Amino acid sequence: MQLVSTRDGKNKVDFKEALINPSAKDGGLYTFDEILPFNAYNLKDLSYEEFALKFIEQFHFGYIDLFKKALQTYKEFDDKTALFLRKVNENLFINELYHGPTRAFKDMALQPFGVLLNELNKNDKILIICATSGDTGPATLKSFEKFQNIKVVCIYPKDGTSEIQALQMQALNKNHLRVFAIEGNFDDAQNTLKKLLLKDDFKRILSNLDFKLCVANSINFGRILFQMIYHYYACVKLDKVLDVIVPSGNFGNALAAYYAKKMGAKIDRIKIATNSNDVLSDFFNQGIYDIRERSLKKTISPAMDILISSNIERLLFDKFKDLRTKELMNDLKEKKYFYLNKDELDSLKQDFDASSCSDLECMNFIKKYSKDFLIDPHTATCFKLLDEDKSTLITSTAEWTKFTPSIYKALFDQELNNEKEAMLEIALKFDYQIKPDLLALFDIKNENLKAYKCDELENEIIDWIKQ
Ligand SMILES: *Cc1c(COP(=O)(O)O)cnc(C)c1O
Repeated sequence: MQLVSTRDGKNKVDFKEALINPSAKDGGLYTFDEILPFNAYNLKDLSYEEFALKFIEQFHFGYIDLFKKALQTYKEFDDKTALFLRKVNENLFINELYHGPTRAFKDMALQPFGVLLNELNKNDKILIICATSGDTGPATLKSFEKFQNIKVVCIYPKDGTSEIQALQMQALNKNHLRVFAIEGNFDDAQNTLKKLLLKDDFKRILSNLDFKLCVANSINFGRILFQMIYHYYACVKLDKVLDVIVPSGNFGNALAAYYAKKMGAKIDRIKIATNSNDVLSDFFNQGIYDIRERSLKKTISPAMDILISSNIERLLFDKFKDLRTKELMNDLKEKKYFYLNKDELDSLKQDFDASSCSDLECMNFIKKYSKDFLIDPHTATCFKLLDEDKSTLITSTAEWTKFTPSIYKALFDQELNNEKEAMLEIALKFDYQIKPDLLALFDIKNENLKAYKCDELENEIIDWIKQ
C-alpha cells in the first residue's frame, strides 16, 4: 500500500519514503488514501506484539521482517508488554501507555519507530533535531540510543521542564546524541528548530557532510501507525462499545483513535481533551480553527500547550478530501483561521466531542482520584469529559513521576523544591513503585549546566556534526 499527500491525492509514496521525508513537496502530510475495514476482534487472545504484527501486515506496506524487529522493542517495557489496561470499575478503564523506558506514551511509537528508521537507512547518515517541552526529548533520544548513524539533537528550555525530564535528557547527552538547554521558553526552542529546518545555508552544509535531515514528531506517519494499534487492541480486549478520551496537543494520538474507529474498533465517541490552550476544543465545537487572537498559555500540561495541531490536517483529508484540505490549510497559513461549513462540522460531530480543562480542574481531578490511582496533569484533563454512565477508556499519556512538582501541589496543596524528595514522599504515601533507573538519575551531577543562546545553536550543531 502507498501513502498519499493530504493536499494532493495523486501524490503517492511508499512507506519508506514517507518515513524519511514525512512532509510532501506540496506541503501536505502523508497518510492513508482510504481506510479499509479490518476486523480484529477475532485476535483477542494474541499478545500485544502478535496483534501488532497482524495489524501491520494487512496494510501491505512491505518490510515485514523490519516491523517484526521493531516490535521487539516492546520487550523492554514493564513486564515485557506495551499495553496496560487498568480497570477502575465496570464502566471505566484506563489505557496506561507510559510503561516504556522514558515513562511517557511517546515511547509506544518512538521505540519501534527508531528501529525502523535505522533499518531503512543503513547506508545513510541522518540528523534528527527535536524541540521539546520535556516528553518528546527523552523518548526521541532513547529511541536512537543504539543507532550510531542517526544523530539526534534535542533542544529544550533550561527552566521549562521538570528536573527528572532534564536529567533524562542529560543522561543521554553523549556520542551521537546531543542535548542543548537554551535560554528561553519552549516557544523559543521550537522557533529555533523551525528556523533551522528552513535555512538553506544550514541544509547545504548538512548535505555537504552527507547528512539527511529528518523529523521524528507526529507529522511522521510512522508514529501514527504504531499509535493506532494500542487503541484498537484495548478495544478488542474490552470487547464492548466505548467512548475513548484522549488528551490532545498535536492531535496524533486522537487521530490514531479515529483511524482505529474507522477500521472497526467499537468506539462510540472520541473525546478530545485540551488544557486552557483550547484551539482544538473550539474547533470541534464550533468548526472554526482560529489562531488570530491566541497566544500560548503556560499550563501544568506542557505537552498540550499548542496553537497549531499538525494532525488536524490528516483528519480534514479523511473527511473532506485533498482539495478542501489544501484550501483550509492555505487559509490557516495566510489568514490565520479557517471555517468549516455546517455539513462539515456535523460530520466531525458524528465522531468527536471536545472540552478544555483548566489547571485548577486538573489539580482537583488528580487529588480526587488519588485514592485509587495516580494520574499526571495531561491525563487529568480527560476526566472533564467523563460520562460515568457510559463505558469509557481514558488514554493515559505519562507517568505522574514526570510531573512531580504539579502532582505534589495537587495532592498536598503546597510546594516542595526538592523533586526527588517530593517523588519519594508521594510514592511512599500512595504505595507506588518508582522505577529504580528513574530515581538513579538524580545522582547525575550537572550543577554547571550551560544554557545556550538560541542564535549560538546553528554553529554548535555544525561543529558537533563535523567531529
Ligand atoms: C505528546 C503528549 C500529549 C499530546 O499528544 P498528541 O499526540 O500530540 O496530541 C499528551 N500528553 C503527554 C504526556 C504527551 O507527552
